[in-house]
Amino acid sequence: MSEPVGNVFVIAAPSGAGKSSLVNALLADDPSLALSVSCTTRKPRTGEIEGKDYRFVSMEAFESLQRENKLLEWAQVHENYYGTPRDKIDQAVLNGQDILLEIDWQGALQVRKALPSVVGIFILPPSIDALLERLQKRATDTDEVIAKRIQAANSEISHAPEFEYVIINQVFTDALAELKTIISSVRLRYAKQQTRHRSLFNQFGLDA
Ligand code: 5GP
Repeated sequence: MSEPVGNVFVIAAPSGAGKSSLVNALLADDPSLALSVSCTTRKPRTGEIEGKDYRFVSMEAFESLQRENKLLEWAQVHENYYGTPRDKIDQAVLNGQDILLEIDWQGALQVRKALPSVVGIFILPPSIDALLERLQKRATDTDEVIAKRIQAANSEISHAPEFEYVIINQVFTDALAELKTIISSVRLRYAKQQTRHRSLFNQFGLDA
């Protein structure tokens, strides 16, 4: 039995590394890549759209999803709960659709257990100073929130070695190009190409 064509990518980064901007630009340029929309108990931020950025749910609703085994993974991050709905990932893998999960290291670890072929990408800021500057620039946050974010960022970064790929987000356009390169290289793996182009491979006697 050949492997499914669909790839599952997990992208993690400390807060302030520019992950969301990179992911948004990537998705805008790549219609065959779908984003997994997580559930969260966090309140929506200004401009966030229900069903697009997150599915915003109550703690009770989140607990039911956990109980009913509807989450592929879940974690507590910054005092809120986040989880990846299982249904869309299962469907994507079956249908050969590539899917991207923008989650933290705890979630990445759980996804790897469930789907060993997951491809992990970690985004690093270009320096500690750049990270601090980016974290402090978020005008909406108090000093206490910023201090907590710095601590959380350091903890997230300590898990970078658990990912296959690392991108250093110094120049946005370069980082985006690197992200696209990783996605392309995974899609071009022999086994994936063979599954996707079965009849061509058969013509050349390259049967599975
Ligand atoms: P934010 O509240 O800033 O949108 O996200 C906070 C952190 O939670 C980020 O590191 C983000 O990647 C992570 N996160 C978002 N959705 C999920 C999810 O479904 N599962 C896990 N484990 N982490 C998530």
